[in-house]
Amino acid sequence: METIETDVAVIGAGLAGLSAARALEAEGVDVSVIEARDRVGGRTVNEPIGVGKVLDLGGQWVGPGQDRILELIPELGLETYSTFGEGLNLIERKGKVSKYSGTIPKVNPVALAEVGLALKRIERLAAKVDPERPWESELAHFDRMTFDTWMRRHVRTAVARDLLRLAIEAVWAAEPEDISMLHMLFYVRSAGSLDLLLDTEGGAQDSRVLGGTQLISKRLAEGLARPVCLESPVRRILWSGDRVMVLADGLRVAADEVVVTLPPVLAGRISYEPALPAIRDGLTQRMIQGSVIKTMSIYPTPFWREQGFSGQSTSADGPVSVTFDNSPPDGSPGVLLAFFEGKAARDAGELPGSVRQQLVADCLTRLFGEEAANPDRYLEKVWADDEWARGCYGGYFPPGAWTSHGRALRESIGPIHWAGAETASEWAGYMEGAIQSGRRAAAEILAPGGAPV
Ligand SMILES: Cc1cc2nc3c(=O)[nH]c(=O)nc-3n(C[C@H](O)[C@H](O)[C@H](O)COP(=O)(O)OP(=O)(O)OC[C@H]3O[C@@H](n4cnc5c(N)ncnc54)[C@H](O)[C@@H]3O)c2cc1C
Repeated sequence: METIETDVAVIGAGLAGLSAARALEAEGVDVSVIEARDRVGGRTVNEPIGVGKVLDLGGQWVGPGQDRILELIPELGLETYSTFGEGLNLIERKGKVSKYSGTIPKVNPVALAEVGLALKRIERLAAKVDPERPWESELAHFDRMTFDTWMRRHVRTAVARDLLRLAIEAVWAAEPEDISMLHMLFYVRSAGSLDLLLDTEGGAQDSRVLGGTQLISKRLAEGLARPVCLESPVRRILWSGDRVMVLADGLRVAADEVVVTLPPVLAGRISYEPALPAIRDGLTQRMIQGSVIKTMSIYPTPFWREQGFSGQSTSADGPVSVTFDNSPPDGSPGVLLAFFEGKAARDAGELPGSVRQQLVADCLTRLFGEEAANPDRYLEKVWADDEWARGCYGGYFPPGAWTSHGRALRESIGPIHWAGAETASEWAGYMEGAIQSGRRAAAEILAPGGAPV
């Protein structure tokens, strides 16, 4: 078994771990990054589809307000390009497909007004939540209800509720009845606004990274002094007041401190000796990973563009809930991205891949016509099946968890520090949040008790 002596061990070579390592190294700290997979990037992963062309099977979009990642991309010699969004969007509900423009489908005036009002209410409430300490906010009582409970009280029409359900599924990969209303408000606050979360142009789906987002992690890893220790799943962490021993398959890393950047559910599967305080273990029992199956259907050309469609659509009938034009910047080949989210992803995840592929083809055909029926190629990733993610886009809290266990999300325990997109107070759950959390954990180590970055 190889043994490494270092100042800080970082577990996980996703954006959080690599950002922590980079920030620590910049201050002269010796760091070893330990990663279970045979690659860096975690929940970002590139899939090559021909010479110089790449699709993202994990996190892909960046947008305004995500200042850290937008600065980092050019710093690493990378570029972004705009998400294709020209033309009309489509919505399918009760077997009927309608066209619309903008973010919210104009299905009927009453529903539209109700959705508008609900979104304004949510914005107003979210502004009152402190993203650093949501459990202490004056709205902490919202942790007693799900978003569904809140929606049933404030939104009367079924159409408006369907639209809000679609929005929840798209952002959290979960159902309105799964999520604490306080968590929803925290998340909106952490991103800045609900519009930013939902919008394509000018919002979180604004742009993509040329060459794929995994390149960000690859470049960060290349810049580190020590190579990332790949294929080394961490199983145990032995710790005392000022020393840790990280035990991975085939590797032992002795360090003064450790940064654990795994989603809480996976952090809870590591064995800690001595055992962690009950509040921290309870937290890892409560944060649930969302469910997403990301699929891409590849066609010779983006034929929907010629028909005046943007490729963006949403379906209340499902099982695919959202689609996007995910073609490379030159529009060749044509790629339709389709997501199964929340319950639909859990259900479809149990089906054979060929059946799932047919479900996607059927949905795309209803939306975009017969040309969508037979793609040249179909790609998919069932994130809940991935041993080192167990779901995505990220973790969320059901009712009761923020107020009972929330303070254990970021609070370090002796030499153990917590990072990862789930622990971010800005853009929680996003690549930007992962970077913020990694830098915050590094700052904790560099200046204990200092101001967060
Ligand atoms: C399908 C999908 C679409 C998404 N879309 C977007 C988007 O468009 N925009 C956006 O900003 N975000 C998006 N996200 C979310 C974004 O990708 C994540 O928030 C971000 O990449 C998380 O980074 P992280 O470093 O916190 O966690 P991770 O990337 O999960 O990194 C944790 C690392 O720890 C490793 N690990 C796990 N267990 C162990 C162990 N026991 N020992 C050692 N290593 C271990 C994992 O392999 C992983 O590499 C999406 C995610 C998915 C999956």
